[in-house]
Amino acid sequence: MMPTDSQNPEISVSDLLLYINCPRRVYFVSRGYELLPEINASRLERMLLKELSLNYSEIVKKCSLNADTMCKELEAALTYACKDLPLMFPKEFERTEKGFLEEGDARARAKIPEIAANLLKGIEEFGNDAMLAALTPVKTEPIIFSKRLNLKGSPSKIVCFEGANVPSIIRPGSCPIQGVWASDRIHIAALALLLESETGKEIPFGFVEYVSFGIIRKVVIRSSDRREVLKICRRVEKIKAGLMPEKTEEKFCPECTFSEHCVSNSSLMSKFF
Ligand code: SF4
Repeated sequence: MMPTDSQNPEISVSDLLLYINCPRRVYFVSRGYELLPEINASRLERMLLKELSLNYSEIVKKCSLNADTMCKELEAALTYACKDLPLMFPKEFERTEKGFLEEGDARARAKIPEIAANLLKGIEEFGNDAMLAALTPVKTEPIIFSKRLNLKGSPSKIVCFEGANVPSIIRPGSCPIQGVWASDRIHIAALALLLESETGKEIPFGFVEYVSFGIIRKVVIRSSDRREVLKICRRVEKIKAGLMPEKTEEKFCPECTFSEHCVSNSSLMSKFF
């Protein structure tokens, strides 16, 4: 007999992203192991760029096509982000070495000219109104739950574009030459499915903001993306219910927090028999 929805462990969009990273990580996190990404200058740089990006819409509104003013506004906003970050994440900062924040700030600051240039390029290419619509949040980090999908998640923003409220995610990492990374496509599709179940309206697209570059990309959601999300949801449910996925050779293994617990299934069996 198929289990009913209420018997399935609740899953979140972050589980799906963890699964794309490595299915076994879902297993460890669901069993209470803490995923502790190292707090180093590079992580702080990404955190600062994420905070900085929340000001992009205000800055675009103020600066229009003036590059110098835009750089100055971005620098001022980064200074505030640097002051605010330790207050927003006190737990993380307890275990952060002194000097990492300054280094993260310097790295983020070095990106400002490129961010300003790309924001201005976006305004020229798509127009001020379209850029503002794509950047300006109608809601920031709302938590959405769908009983039907047994899934919860939180888009970085919901923006109103061409009359539709659509999800937008903030990605502080690298930016592909064209389009978006495959994991970002799945992320947007999962959030669109959640929003659709809340509003009953089809969400045909979403946005990914590659904030370290000031680049925003529109993603059209395909049926194949929706299918992939639903497939991953079912696999994640099984893992959270107790299934240990097969260990695969992962590029993330050397730096993985769980590597000491993570042995191959055959080694695990040999411990018991
Ligand atoms: S050690 Fe490798 S296989 Fe195991 S959870 Fe980490 S990334 Fe996945």
